[in-house]
Amino acid sequence: MTEAHADEHQAGPAPDAESTTDSPRLGQLVERVSMINRIHGALRSTLNIDDIYSIIMTTMISRSALDLSRAFLIEYDGGRHSFHGLTALGASDREEHDRLQDEIIDEEKYLAEMVRDLHQLEPSAEERALFNQSLLELSSHAFWITTYQRFSAVNGVRDEIRKVTFARPMAKEHAGQAPGGEQPRAKLLDRILNRDSAQVVSHAELVAARMPKQLLEALTDDSLWCPIRTNKGLRLLLIADKVYQDEPISGNDILHMDWFAGQVALALENAEMFHHLESAYNSLRELDQMKTNFLATISHELRTPLTAITGYLQLLLEGKIGELTSSQIEVLKRIQAHGDMLTGKVNDVIEIAELDSDRSLEVEIKPIDPLNVLMNILPRVESRRAMKDISIEPILTHSIPSILCNAQGLGRILFHLLDNAIKFSDSNSSVRVEFLQIEDALHITVADNGIGISREQLKKIFDAFYQVDSELTRSYDGLGIGLAIIKRQIELTKGQIEVESELGRGSRFTIIYPLAEQP
Ligand code: ADP
Repeated sequence: MTEAHADEHQAGPAPDAESTTDSPRLGQLVERVSMINRIHGALRSTLNIDDIYSIIMTTMISRSALDLSRAFLIEYDGGRHSFHGLTALGASDREEHDRLQDEIIDEEKYLAEMVRDLHQLEPSAEERALFNQSLLELSSHAFWITTYQRFSAVNGVRDEIRKVTFARPMAKEHAGQAPGGEQPRAKLLDRILNRDSAQVVSHAELVAARMPKQLLEALTDDSLWCPIRTNKGLRLLLIADKVYQDEPISGNDILHMDWFAGQVALALENAEMFHHLESAYNSLRELDQMKTNFLATISHELRTPLTAITGYLQLLLEGKIGELTSSQIEVLKRIQAHGDMLTGKVNDVIEIAELDSDRSLEVEIKPIDPLNVLMNILPRVESRRAMKDISIEPILTHSIPSILCNAQGLGRILFHLLDNAIKFSDSNSSVRVEFLQIEDALHITVADNGIGISREQLKKIFDAFYQVDSELTRSYDGLGIGLAIIKRQIELTKGQIEVESELGRGSRFTIIYPLAEQP
């Protein structure tokens, strides 16, 4: 061989049938546009990289798409500067090729018929637009994937290509190449990889010094080489030939390949971004789970000594250990109040951890008397209420009907709503508990004239551990889990919750449950 070069055909309209003969028939144009739409739709409808690869391969060799004979997909590993064959699609002889192409066309016809049949269901114009778009994307997607899977199992070139790996020659290797007019091989590969357009290569063996023999043996004819770059750099090398067609690779083939490469790059970028977000989300979830587990463990550990402390306190207060002076009893009662508060917080952490980790939890829903539940809860907020001298006023227009709920769950909800209403109100103010029957539901509102919550913060207050004021120097105690417990209890007890609040004016938390009996 005298000339050591790879032919580089310039991209641009080539003098071939499609671009120079009589003006293309409308039907052909419509077909082309529909095909472009379908390729676009199929690539857009998946975020799975393997699916994108299958779509690439079938699109390249489908007669009504890029119409090439065989397609090779080679992945570039930028970290190792090496190429790895992923897959290839195409027949090992012309007869098999023609059969495969016919079968792909049959699949396409079947798909077109399916779309036509669905249209005969006469959807409305709006439905049709929506339906067309999603159907087009999904059916093209499914079509390319199934076609690829079906044919990749039988085609003759796939396995060898899968095993191909070769290193990308580095800059210093370029320097060592023979001087003179001869093109250094490594440079040819670099030239192909650095260009924004596909290129025709006539002598594959001259492109890469270390090109494996399986690939060289496969590429006996002219082949089209197309690098695919995403925003992370070079990702893929698509190589295809027209070994079973009677015409050479044309300028139009190059144009179509370039367009396709752009679509593939976008699809890969989307998929990569999605996977990046997905793994970030998964690690955040894992961290969140670890935090919840840790809190649950530590709370369990705290609960045991706390139970002992409060137990001994009780014995002391009951005088079972010996007589106490009134001031000793006073001090012990304060210790007991703080001990109870601590036990309450530890129990809250355990509760939210359990509610969060067991999503399949269910509670019994049955007719209950909400006023009775409220009365049972009041002693639990008594010490906080008394400390700030806040009055709690139940407001009821007429007798309160029974509701369908779970008494324990409702107790937890009312406790946290009241606790917050007292906590975030000024001393000497009042907190109202309103009961209002609206049609077949009971609305229970806990209202205060406290500090209120801004519209922006309202969106976040139900998240566990969220507090509007989360500074360590904040003026209100709390762990930020009361409302998260409420949210889960509302789900479990099949109720609803609504919040209205205004900064500086107060808040109204309303829970809604169905009446036990229809009015
Ligand atoms: P905690 O009360 O322990 O901080 P919660 O989950 O019960 O935690 O409430 C989360 C946050 O929502 C509180 O820190 C507070 O900023 C806000 N919040 C809840 N209820 C009220 C209320 N009645 N008035 C003002 N802010 C409230």
